[in-house]
Amino acid sequence: MTATSDFLIIGGGLAGARAAEALRREGFDGGITLVGEEPLRPYLRPPLSKDYLQGKAEQESLFVHPAVWYRDHDVDLVLGTAATSLDRTHHNVVLADGSRRPFDRLLLCTGSTPKSLTIPGADLDGVHYLRRMEDSERIKEAFAGSPRVVVIGGGWIGLETAAAARAAGLQVTILETAALPLVGVLGPHVAQVFAELHRSNGVDLRCNVEVERLTGDAGRVTDVTLGDGSIIPADLVIVGVGITPNVALADEAGIDVDNGIVVDEHLQSSDPEVFAAGDVANAFNRRLDRHVRVEHWANAEHQPAIAAMSMMDRTATYDRLPFFYSDQYDLGLEYTGYAEAGDYDRVVFRGDVESREFIAFWLAGHRVLAGMNVNTWDVSKQIEAIITSGLAVDANRLADVSVSLEDVRA
Ligand SMILES: Cc1cc2nc3c(=O)[nH]c(=O)nc-3n(C[C@H](O)[C@H](O)[C@H](O)COP(=O)(O)OP(=O)(O)OC[C@H]3O[C@@H](n4cnc5c(N)ncnc54)[C@H](O)[C@@H]3O)c2cc1C
Repeated sequence: MTATSDFLIIGGGLAGARAAEALRREGFDGGITLVGEEPLRPYLRPPLSKDYLQGKAEQESLFVHPAVWYRDHDVDLVLGTAATSLDRTHHNVVLADGSRRPFDRLLLCTGSTPKSLTIPGADLDGVHYLRRMEDSERIKEAFAGSPRVVVIGGGWIGLETAAAARAAGLQVTILETAALPLVGVLGPHVAQVFAELHRSNGVDLRCNVEVERLTGDAGRVTDVTLGDGSIIPADLVIVGVGITPNVALADEAGIDVDNGIVVDEHLQSSDPEVFAAGDVANAFNRRLDRHVRVEHWANAEHQPAIAAMSMMDRTATYDRLPFFYSDQYDLGLEYTGYAEAGDYDRVVFRGDVESREFIAFWLAGHRVLAGMNVNTWDVSKQIEAIITSGLAVDANRLADVSVSLEDVRA
């Protein structure tokens, strides 16, 4: 790596933009090219299912940087062009327009793509996915003439979109294959809170259902048919059934891929000149002592700075705890930590679950793995400290709101 090196970033999302920013902040003065498939400069996606979908945020407020920032920081922004292949031998990436971009170091921030439904009728008009700004705009427009909305998938995006549709005064049905929405992420006790939240806001939430097919009239969706034969009329269907990391470039070039691009704690891939960050990276996290691929904003916000340092041959390690947030109706939450099903043996609540003002803690024995504060603010740093200290906690003290979170040790 020299002062005149060329660094190439593929993927014009949050991670790509933050990487360019970090490289300049850290004093890298070689060439930076940022290639994005979307025609828009990097923007934040969380508002797409929240304020922006509800018409409460201006487009300009979503962009990571003002347009002039790229010029001012000498970042060559190539938009509306996908990278189609990676030639590791000759150190270049081929773009869809046939041009080749050379690199000394390459950072892949290609993010992820929504999984598609494969059932009959999935390609009818009126069936939407939500990933890009244009998707959010199309759904917002469709809200205007679609009194009956069916949301397939009770994950974060499905639930937030359902809340936006209710805010628009629409009739909303959520279809979820599991016993509760978010049950895989949060476990049954906390997932129940979200089931009740949506039902109390007028959503027809149906769990344990299989969607068999979508039917339509003149190419436009009219109904959703379930496995048990029941039929739900729909003017608009929104699908949120998970995402797949965009690994093709790396995979086809022979870089290790396994649930994302496999990178170490420095965000370096199996090719020492290729790095990955954000949704697409399955990164080793020393604090968690395992590889994790995190599909959330904070990861795309913070990982790129570490990738940038590594690209510049400086030693930096990514060991932040995963963090995410969500807003639905009048409920706001922040989740810190990592607790998959099977990792924890109990959930301790602190506060009032019924009025949805509480903190939930996921514990393995006496150790806290994760905490989620719901309508309870300025506590995520304390939750993080409890988790990272690794100290044994007293579950009764943890549950007792009169005991400070700094004082919950066993
Ligand atoms: C609707 C919505 C709501 C969300 N809400 C929240 C939330 O409330 N809280 C939270 O923590 N997280 C939320 N997220 C998740 C968060 O937005 C993502 O984790 C974050 O966007 C990941 O950033 P990224 O840069 O890694 O990937 P992306 O944002 O996916 O960006 C990757 C970019 O790379 C481009 N690209 C892909 N392949 C190529 C290629 N071959 N050549 C060129 N360009 C390519 C893509 O088109 C895309 O523009 C939400 C996501 C969505 C979609």
